[in-house]
Amino acid sequence: MGKALLIVITAPSGAGKSSLCDRLLGEYDDIVYSISCTTRNPRGDEVDGEDYFFLTDAQFEEKVAAGQFIEHAVVHDYRYGTLKDTVMGIMSEGNSVIMDIDVQGARQIRSILSEAPDTDIMKQGFLDIFITPPSIEELRDRLLGRGEDQLDVIERRLDNAVEEIACEKEFRCVVVNDDFETAYRQLRDVIRNIMD
Ligand code: 5GP
Repeated sequence: MGKALLIVITAPSGAGKSSLCDRLLGEYDDIVYSISCTTRNPRGDEVDGEDYFFLTDAQFEEKVAAGQFIEHAVVHDYRYGTLKDTVMGIMSEGNSVIMDIDVQGARQIRSILSEAPDTDIMKQGFLDIFITPPSIEELRDRLLGRGEDQLDVIERRLDNAVEEIACEKEFRCVVVNDDFETAYRQLRDVIRNIMD
């Protein structure tokens, strides 16, 4: 087992982040997904406690007030956050954690870690990766092709994507997901090289 990493993965929706993460998680037992909390409703066959912890606004607010989140943000009108216990639970067993969070969350983590001592295991293992589509036109085609969202929702996601892509320079590593296999190898190699 290698060094335990705190891997933050950020991407605009439709960039292929979930498929890349699923492949990585399927291949390596020592990389564990951090299940976030959200106030949005479950979609499709999503399961509470597996995909997200689905909370009411009041439950979410209670955890904010109790200081239980390492980061939290509003994304597409709903609240999302990562519990400190989730991340620490995974890393204290020597495993690496993958956090699939937005640009705001990534910034909060960077800011917390910049204040932490150099001996902090999260600081020592921090790796932030941005996954980007080859172009906005390609992203539009992918979102239209999924057929999951109304046109106005797609346009809103594309506007968000433009804003998020403008922040890619903040990340240590940028993976362009043009060809899935190439992007996957790049993602896997950057993680395993630091870990091993
Ligand atoms: P979705 O609702 O499609 O699952 O996720 C929408 C967005 O919320 C994605 O960009 C995802 O990365 C982000 N997100 C999911 N969990 C968290 C979290 O715990 N914190 C933050 N800041 N963003 C999150």
